[in-house]
Amino acid sequence: MIFGATGDLANRKLYPSLYKLFEKGNLSDKFAVIGVARRPLTNEEFQENIKKSVKSSIQKEDRIDEFASHFYYHSHDVTDSNSYAVLNNLANQLDSNYDLQGNRIFYLAMAPEFFGTIALHLKEDGLTNVSGFKRLVIEKPFGHDLQSAQELNDQIRTAFSEDEVYRIDHYLGKEMVQNIEVIRFANAIFEPLWNNRYISNIQVTSSEVLGVEERGRYYEKSGALRDMVQNHMLQMVALLAMEPPIKLTTEEIRSEKVRVLRALRPIEGEEIKEYFVRGQYDKGTVEGTQVLGYREEQMVNPESNTETYVAGKLMIDNFRWAGVPIYIRTGKRMDAKSTKIVIQFKDIPMNLYYSPEETLNPNLLVIHIQPEEGITLHLNAKKAGQNIAATPVKLNYANRGIDGLNTPEAYEKLLFDCMRGDATNFTHWDEVALSWSFVDKISDVWENQKAENYPNYNAGTMGPREADELLEKDGFHWWPIS
Ligand code: NAD
Repeated sequence: MIFGATGDLANRKLYPSLYKLFEKGNLSDKFAVIGVARRPLTNEEFQENIKKSVKSSIQKEDRIDEFASHFYYHSHDVTDSNSYAVLNNLANQLDSNYDLQGNRIFYLAMAPEFFGTIALHLKEDGLTNVSGFKRLVIEKPFGHDLQSAQELNDQIRTAFSEDEVYRIDHYLGKEMVQNIEVIRFANAIFEPLWNNRYISNIQVTSSEVLGVEERGRYYEKSGALRDMVQNHMLQMVALLAMEPPIKLTTEEIRSEKVRVLRALRPIEGEEIKEYFVRGQYDKGTVEGTQVLGYREEQMVNPESNTETYVAGKLMIDNFRWAGVPIYIRTGKRMDAKSTKIVIQFKDIPMNLYYSPEETLNPNLLVIHIQPEEGITLHLNAKKAGQNIAATPVKLNYANRGIDGLNTPEAYEKLLFDCMRGDATNFTHWDEVALSWSFVDKISDVWENQKAENYPNYNAGTMGPREADELLEKDGFHWWPIS
């Protein structure tokens, strides 16, 4: 059951992903989807929408009619109890028509204020009363702060146990995010160096070119810290910093990630200025086009105090990471769309190849998450010719070049994981709670102190000057992302 079946997420991501699973045989023909949304639609109209959504994102669509025939529509107000009874009847009927053995997945692809209500109704009105498995897939944002996340979690947990809840963080579905673990734990050359003796700092960047678009109303209440740092950025940091799990099971991996978040040094009060930088974009030129500043966007307060950019320095207080800064930055209207991780290794003890024109570059391991997917290792090698001089070289691995164009999209992988009951790449409540308690300390201060210097970066740049100073104070600089 997809709640929010006429929405943007369902149309752009969920239907095309389900179709790919169907086409590859990962989804058998024993399945049915009930689309739930407010507007009245017939099954036929809904099926036409499904076909349109699949066709607009996939070239090959040989089995589209057969696929769409599995979709049913239920017009529904999520706050109306009677409507759930009708929905349950339809679900029971499809259960027997398609021999579904009482297995149900509920996907909440709608505004977060409804998540709690829907979960409560699913239980009260008997929809979770099934003979097979029941799973709840829930989109971000999971709460607005720790308290609201806790309330939402309590509501959900009346109807579903923790291992039945699949909290989506679509970054965890990305191929190269999943690759972080493999790079670390399957290569003898990295793991011995993966600590404070050999790594000087780590930089995680997730930049967007887009502005706030038509999401102004939501974004005004959220901002970059809640929208990106609480979930995606901290999840990437946890994967980079965790200890090797004993086994690759959901429980083992999650418990190692939780330990990282527990070791994350809380930043509060006056320290926030030392460790975090916030920004808001002004007008500027993006890809040759003049664009508005954040405060001029639709549904945005002309004196808005909301940050569209965050840079921060994280410290993980454990034996492995003591003293190694992990810098993160994320923002809208930056000069490139890119998610990248740079691991900078410490300098060698002594440089034998010094020349006045060139100094030795540090070794970098760059993990390209999106749009390119791959790894680059920056080394120094001998310059061709008579002299013994060093020159930087790059070893490059591009994922798409090797595996072809068929890297599955995040949502395809996550939907498949959920169907198989593998929750590894979803966030556990403990991770959500720890990351909110880290972020809350910062957002409490930012909300109550007006940023006097907003807007402080032009659209189409890499963010405010203070974000560069954050690293310069420590003797580092941001490595370019393009
Ligand atoms: P949307 O506004 O496009 O769609 C909302 C859907 O909910 C529609 O189908 C609408 O009919 C339905 N709906 C609204 N009120 C209803 C009610 N009272 N009863 C029944 N149905 C109702 O939203 P979206 O962009 O698809 O986002 C859905 C969720 O996914 C949100 O939690 C959002 O934060 C999250 N999300 C979206 C994207 C994305 O790319 N769109 C990405 C990440 C997360």
